[in-house]
Amino acid sequence: MMNFLKISISKTRLLIVYTSICFLILSSFGYAWGFYGHRKINEMAVYCLPGEMINLFKKNIEYISQHAVDPDKRRYATPFEAVRHYIDIDHWGDNPFEDVPRNYAEAVTKYGICYLVNGVDSTILDFDQSLESKSFQERKKFIINNWLPQRYEEMPIYLCDSLIKYFDFKSNQCSQFLFEDVFSTFGILPYELESQQRKLTDAFLNKDAEKIIRVATDIGHYIADAHVPLHTTENYNGQMTNQDGIHAFWESRLPELFADSEYDFFVGQADYVLDKKSFFWNIVEESNRNLQKVLDVEMKIRNEYDQDKQYCYEERLDATIRLECSEYAKEYHELLGGMVEDRMRGSIKSIADCWYTAWVDAGQPDFDKVEIISEEDEIVNKAFDLGKIFGRKH
Ligand SMILES: [Zn+2]
Repeated sequence: MMNFLKISISKTRLLIVYTSICFLILSSFGYAWGFYGHRKINEMAVYCLPGEMINLFKKNIEYISQHAVDPDKRRYATPFEAVRHYIDIDHWGDNPFEDVPRNYAEAVTKYGICYLVNGVDSTILDFDQSLESKSFQERKKFIINNWLPQRYEEMPIYLCDSLIKYFDFKSNQCSQFLFEDVFSTFGILPYELESQQRKLTDAFLNKDAEKIIRVATDIGHYIADAHVPLHTTENYNGQMTNQDGIHAFWESRLPELFADSEYDFFVGQADYVLDKKSFFWNIVEESNRNLQKVLDVEMKIRNEYDQDKQYCYEERLDATIRLECSEYAKEYHELLGGMVEDRMRGSIKSIADCWYTAWVDAGQPDFDKVEIISEEDEIVNKAFDLGKIFGRKH
């Protein structure tokens, strides 16, 4: 006998399951690294490339820099974009870097929840509580074969008969089968980086110059996001510690004030990356190691600095905006001890490494004659101008 746990008898629950797949969470305005930071990081990465491949990138440096913020704009066009920019790694327990599988399908399998809808009264049964559900490997097979290909549609519904090979249930106890992706909601950044790297290598293999530049520009954005400590936590805008606004303060305000005058952006030649998975996860882990300091230092100055001198008002594009005053920002910047510059330099070097690695993995194709890519993405720009974002704003 199967022993399902009955978790609900109402159809409301079904609705909640359907809608909980995505994007909730809101906070105040901001872009990772700001427009300025992302553009500068992508631009500087071009100068780290070796002579044989720099031609293609240099000719398109304007595009690579200007479009460095396209992935952020895309969050206004699709609900599935936001999760690619972060991973709330601390959501997954005390030792998340050991516990969270680094294979995406395994992570989704580990944390996802399966539901059966009872054929008789539409009761939703939490299938995961069933002691007779098949092994992790069988479930992973289901994720790879059935769920992954459909994940960009709404929460898929499966007919039970077709899934008996993956799970133990009797068809008379089940009319529909649902899978709730509990994992991706908390961010998929390192997995996205691996997939973008494969895309870039494929574009090089096909010698598709337009695609190379587009994907290289995008991966630059995601790698830069991965270097931001606040992109690795549920407390991404200090909202859990009464530090609202810290996100834009750290990653937009500080670079805007100090990068041009104080930072050294020359980081040397790109290196080949052998183990991509570890490379991307190490970036996230290092960002996360810096997180406590980002929060602690801000808390210290917030409490100790003269309240009246913390915020100033500036006119920008005919609007008055409230920003951290430059003296106050300077205090934060100095107490962080070069962290923002380090993370920006790290972003530039890592981006160049990934571009170079994709080119090497594709057999170092030649790009003597290359066109300048200039096409704009109309749909994305239109959605961005409308200003309605899907998911969180950081
Ligand atoms: Zn982003």
